[in-house]
Amino acid sequence: MKGAYVIILWLASAKDVTVGKLGTIAFAPGFYAYVGSAMGAAGFKRVERHLDVSAGRLKTQKWHVDYLLAVSEVFETIEIATQERIECSIARNLGESSSLACIGGFGSSDCRCYSHLFYSHRFNDLEDAVNRLFYSPCPEILGALSKEGCDGREIVRKRYFINTMNRDCVLNRST
Ligand SMILES: [Zn+2]
Repeated sequence: MKGAYVIILWLASAKDVTVGKLGTIAFAPGFYAYVGSAMGAAGFKRVERHLDVSAGRLKTQKWHVDYLLAVSEVFETIEIATQERIECSIARNLGESSSLACIGGFGSSDCRCYSHLFYSHRFNDLEDAVNRLFYSPCPEILGALSKEGCDGREIVRKRYFINTMNRDCVLNRST
């Protein structure tokens, strides 16, 4: 299965992280949505790989997101199965959402997007922006989905438990 994915990450506290050639970025605490491509041979196995990096089972710094995964927790993954390249449309749409900040150059070395990483300190703002993508999608995204049947099965969302010590903190932030 191929397509695009969005990973929602939670960063518990502010961190300065050196992200390869992008240099050091001061990441604020809160929620991040990273938009990636699963069009390569590994397909959605790339999402599993991101989970391994986040959990510390795999140490690698191949992509920009690897640096952020290593210091944050995966809160949700959304896999969108399609033969179309829609990751940049998704990134563009999230970028146009006024409630989100974006981290310039992050995850967009191979395309012309300003960024593939978006931020909000409030979970609800990030989640609302992501939900809008799929429940009232732009024509490019809707077109890519309808070719797959557009019956809802092509979008797979999974939530992950954030470790218990941090959970109260997350819930407080998201209200
Ligand atoms: Zn792009």
